Amino acid sequence: MTATAPREEQLWSRCAGCASLLYRKRLRRNLDVCPECGEHARLGAPERLRQLVDPGSLRPLADRLPEADPIDFVDVVPYPHRLTAARASTGLVEAVVCATATIGGHPVVMAVMDFRFLGGSLGCAVGELITRAAERALDDRVPLVLVTASGGARMQEGVLSLMQMATVSQAIAALREAGLLTVSVLTDPTYGGVAASFATNTDLVLAESGARMGFAGPRVIRQVTGRALPEGFQTADFLLRHGQVDMVVQRRSLRGRLMALLAATRAGRPARPSVPRQEPPPHRERLAEEEPSPPTTEADGTPAVRDAWDTVRMARHPGRPTTLDYLDSVFDGFVELHGDRLGGDCPAIVGGVARLAGRHVMVIGHQKGHTTAELVARNFGMASPAGHRKALRLMRLAARLGLPVVTLVDTPGADPGVSAEEHGQAAAIAENILTLTVLPTPVLAVITGEGGSGGALALAVADRVLMLENAVYSVISPEGCAAILWPDRSAAPQAARALRLSAPDLRRLGVVDEVVPEPPAAAHDDPAETALRLRAALVANLLPLLDVPPAMLVRLRRQRFRRFGATRAGQRAGAR
Ligand SMILES: [Zn+2]
Repeated sequence: MTATAPREEQLWSRCAGCASLLYRKRLRRNLDVCPECGEHARLGAPERLRQLVDPGSLRPLADRLPEADPIDFVDVVPYPHRLTAARASTGLVEAVVCATATIGGHPVVMAVMDFRFLGGSLGCAVGELITRAAERALDDRVPLVLVTASGGARMQEGVLSLMQMATVSQAIAALREAGLLTVSVLTDPTYGGVAASFATNTDLVLAESGARMGFAGPRVIRQVTGRALPEGFQTADFLLRHGQVDMVVQRRSLRGRLMALLAATRAGRPARPSVPRQEPPPHRERLAEEEPSPPTTEADGTPAVRDAWDTVRMARHPGRPTTLDYLDSVFDGFVELHGDRLGGDCPAIVGGVARLAGRHVMVIGHQKGHTTAELVARNFGMASPAGHRKALRLMRLAARLGLPVVTLVDTPGADPGVSAEEHGQAAAIAENILTLTVLPTPVLAVITGEGGSGGALALAVADRVLMLENAVYSVISPEGCAAILWPDRSAAPQAARALRLSAPDLRRLGVVDEVVPEPPAAAHDDPAETALRLRAALVANLLPLLDVPPAMLVRLRRQRFRRFGATRAGQRAGAR
């Protein structure tokens, strides 16, 4: 006890629901659920594990990874300082605790997130630890139980944190293929990149009473729509009503429900099939040092040093060619296909069959527009769940027909609206990401303009990821990042620099395989020349993929995304 904390504060706490003053020991005995009003207080990971698993069965998995700060992120405080403070205040190494255990005698692997640690944010280490937990479940042939609590991807690790959505999703996909049960328990709050990946692409999704889950947070949705949110929006009961969770469970019943589900599925446990195990690749040194990307040059041959904020403005320029423009200029014979077959056809996603240099391909892309009317009609390229499901349908169709998939990514982000949340935006994105990690056909993605967060990744888990020179790709918009980490939104230019969202930066980080140079001015000044360059890059990158057997493609694609967690772990390993 510190000298300034009166004894009463240690013994009593005030309920966030009804403001009753509660005796802490009594509250803990009641699993941190208010006996007066039923409010479920947030739990840290150690206490959550204690409540769920059989006494004495918990065996924590290793959680020490080499320190790293992959993009040297600084806002008003350097990122390593925030990490140190989070460790000191929680006693945890990272925002997730992974362990093997039994629940009612059923062996499981658990990964439990802790919101107290930097908002439970998903960074490279968290992604790596959850992926290792999933791999342990695969090795042990036992179910994986995830307990989520997160504000989303960790901004301070830039787009590398976004990649973790794919890394963990492909580990979930491997469990799916092996016939092993995956369960997620949503606790309050579960948002953003965690909601749009492993919180919702598991076999079963349970929501703890009082939990809220969604892709976009209520503050963002209010800001974008300018409307008050419906009563109970994004709560567990809302999720149940909209078909997004299997059940809502009171905390005191959670352990019993998990036991019953584990028992039911254990009966039909499959015999051990031969599942290719994805080996974590060897740690890599910083790509910057071993493979410098060619410096971009101006027309006169001098290296161009464009400020990240200028690039953001170029990427958003209304004259920039759109997906439909490229379908006209880069591809031939485009035939558009419509609809998700579930009740909608989202105008922000266009897709269909086309030819590229004489070869048939499936093209799927975000569609913006050049005029305000076009932008409004296309919802500014922000896809609804119906858009993501249309894309999913076309991806699967392509695999069945043996067509390669080419995606063109240009979106500020997925639609952050009330209706999108009602229709399961998080799960729609999560399913696309997971499906792309295992799609048995070549996938080639190009970030052509704005690569905004999970909405971009939903089309960008690919064998090769290309990026136009003046495009950007980021875990969060610079404005959004500035609003959270800086005193105000006017710091967006600084945030843009800190996020490392430009093509050369992402090439150095290995997130992008090739930067497609734009004409000396920019894509919007010379769309015809841009199309020629894009076409050449697409053909050069697609042809080698056509000869690779599908199983090998999937294996290599998994390695491509598996390495982002290891990248972080490998960086500076020798420096500390
Ligand atoms: Zn209460």
